[in-house]
Order: sequence, then C-alpha cells, then structure tokens
Amino acid sequence: MSVNPELLKKDFPIFENNPGLVYLDNAATTQKPASVIRAVSNYYSTVNSNVHRGVYRISEEATELYENSRRKVSEFIGSSDPAQIVFLRNTTEAINLLSYTLGRKLKKGDEILLTEMEHHSNLIPWFFLREAGIVIRYARMKEDFTLDYEDFMNKLNPRTAIASFTHVSNVLGTINNVRELSRMCSENGTTSIVDAAQSVPHMPVDVSRIGCDYLAFSGHKMLAPAGIGVLYGRKNLLEEMPPFLGGGEMIGEVTYDGSTWAKVPWKFEAGTQNVEGAIGLSAAIDYLRSIGMDSVRNHERSMLDHILKIMHTVDDIKQFGPLDLNKRGGIFSFNIGDVKPFDLLSQATTKFAISHSIHPHDLAAFLDGRNIAIRSGHHCAMPLMGRIGVASTARISPYIYNDESELDLFFESLSACRKAIAR
Ligand code: PMP
Repeated sequence: MSVNPELLKKDFPIFENNPGLVYLDNAATTQKPASVIRAVSNYYSTVNSNVHRGVYRISEEATELYENSRRKVSEFIGSSDPAQIVFLRNTTEAINLLSYTLGRKLKKGDEILLTEMEHHSNLIPWFFLREAGIVIRYARMKEDFTLDYEDFMNKLNPRTAIASFTHVSNVLGTINNVRELSRMCSENGTTSIVDAAQSVPHMPVDVSRIGCDYLAFSGHKMLAPAGIGVLYGRKNLLEEMPPFLGGGEMIGEVTYDGSTWAKVPWKFEAGTQNVEGAIGLSAAIDYLRSIGMDSVRNHERSMLDHILKIMHTVDDIKQFGPLDLNKRGGIFSFNIGDVKPFDLLSQATTKFAISHSIHPHDLAAFLDGRNIAIRSGHHCAMPLMGRIGVASTARISPYIYNDESELDLFFESLSACRKAIAR
C-alpha cells in the first residue's frame, strides 16, 4: 500500500487547527492522530484508575488496557514475550536506566563503545560512569557519513563490556546495520544496546532479527503521546539486573529490613505509571500498522529521493548524510554557506569551520513566517556537530502526512530566504 499524505492529514486535528502548516520537524516529535487523542480521552472518561492495584472493575479494565498495550508493543517490534517490554518515559530514561543498572557491575578500566554519531541521550548517561574509571570509546564515522564498521570491530576488545549505538542518526539520517553490530558484540561477549528512537517510528524493526540485548524508543516520535517510552531487554538479562527506581509497584515483599523485587517487567516500573500514555501508544501502533511499516519506510525514502534531487539545484548547499537511499532514513540536515570540503573528518575537532551565509536559526525563523516548521541547531548532538565541522545545521524530517508539494514549497522558500538576505 502506498501512503496518501493528503488523506492521512485529515486524521490529524493539528492541521485543521493550523491551516497551511507544513510540519517538517518529525524527528523532534510527531503530530497525533485523532484516534490516539480519542484513546487517551476515552481512558480518562471511562476507566481512569490506578493499574495493578484496585480489585474493582474500572481498575481491572485499565490494567487490561495497559497490559494489552505491552503485548501490542512486544508484537510490533518482534519480541517473543511481553515481559521483555518495560514502559518508561522515553529513550532518554531507558538509556539512563541501563547506564545505572549495568554500570553498577562494571569495574575500573572496563570500556563502553559508542559511535561518533550519537544523540546526547546516548552519551551523557554513559559519561556518568567515568567517575568510576570506566573508559568511553567511539567508533568512527566515515567521510560518506556511514559508520566505519571495521573501526567498530577493532575497538571491541576483551574490556568492552557494553556497546550502545544508534539505529538511525537524528542528524545524518544514516541507518546503521545494527544486526551486524549486535552480532559483533555478541561474538565479543559485549552487551549490545540499540537507540531506536529514529527507527521504530519509521521502518519495520524486529528485535529477534537484530539480535541485540536491549533496544529503546520513544512514543512521541511515533504518533503517541509524550511521556511514554519503551525499553526492550532480553528477559534473562532483565531478570539479572538490579532495579532502577525504587518505590511502589516494583516490589515483591517489603519489611523494615529490606525488600524483594517484583517480576520483570514490573520490577522496572516504580510508582504510578503513565497509563494513558501506554493506551495512546497502543492506538498509535494500530494507526501505523493500518498503513504498514514497509509503506512508511517507502514513503520516507521517496521523500528523501525528492529532496536529494532538488538539492542539486541549490547553490552552496551542503548536506550531511549518505547519498545512498538504502543507507539513509528520511532525515535531511544541511547548511547554506561557505562550505569547506569535508577534510575536517580526518581530525576529531570541535572547531567550527563553516561560516553560514544563512544561519540555520535565521532560516528557521524566516520559514516560520511562511508557516513551515523546521529544526535548526545542534540537534542534541554537539560532538557530532564538531565532527562534521559545523556549529549547527538546519534539518527537515518528513513523515507520513508530508508530501512532495510541501518539500517543493520548502525549497522555494529557501530561495526566497536567500534573496531576502542578499538584499
Ligand atoms: N536518540 C535519538 C537518536 C533521538 O533522535 C532522540 C530524540 N531527538 C533521543 C535519543 C531522545 O529521545 P527522547 O527525548 O524522546 O528521550
């Protein structure tokens, strides 16, 4: 089935309330279809109550909806058991959970392998472990903005306890072969973690095929409400791990002297949970499934194809991402300006070599005046900005409700911005 953005747009009230809005910042967060908003609102209007606690009807029904959502998420990402799905706030919280729980077992001199293209969410939680003498290493990115797999392999060694890598870069759009990376990790006895914040919303993702130990993503980037996210972990690993947050719900039995823990996944779900978020996520998965994740991916691929074709007609544009559509999700980061050749990649640098003839923030503000929402800045990936030799970029990231005419409008407005600034 092919995606029909014009038709889909009608499902999203935000477009009715903002006529003419061209929303191209979907890597930051996506809009919500009426079915998701309705699911959340219905929950509040019909069975709102705390889950796993009440022995009365509406609490049992709320619990059923919450646990159904877990089953749906499990199926959606190819996990064999809903117990492997932990509900958290977002990808950031999932990676913090892993850094805290797995980090407690590491010894001074142990290594964590990341890549040069990580979001701050997959950097900072690991930085905390430096205090305990843990060493962080980075697999390099190549000049074509793809990961250097050989370098990743060479950096895996007997001390590498954990490797955590993004599936799709939120800046470059690069799709990493996480199956291959997980395989390398497993052969080395290294725990593998996939940051799937930019992949689960955009393409079929199957954890059993990838073979990773853990995988994290956020609901708000896939049509669901904010504040609900998912950590997938192999059941035996989750069982071995200590809990993260302590409190109600996550316990077995408590005395004044101590406590036992609940079974997984509830051991990791301390306190009152985001029930409405989980219910909204379930509705979002229904919506995405009705389109089909292959169709979502194909649509984004054709959007990117269109972008790359027009891009060649724009003077002085420098884009940051692989040109091979098979290696790239629907994210397009670029700058307009005095762009230097990509020789900076040979040195890890934090010097910013590109002077922009249009600053990304100026461009974003200009486009906002035309009702076009794009992202500008460092995209929570400051080390990567340094690596590609810029302080910031502009970024567009289309989704299922965007069409080619919006991309054309975006490029026309880019030319208009340039003319306005040259005047
Ligand atoms: N990883 C990547 C690749 C992302 O793009 C983002 C969000 N921009 C995150 C992690 C963090 O997601 P969240 O803010 O939902 O925790």
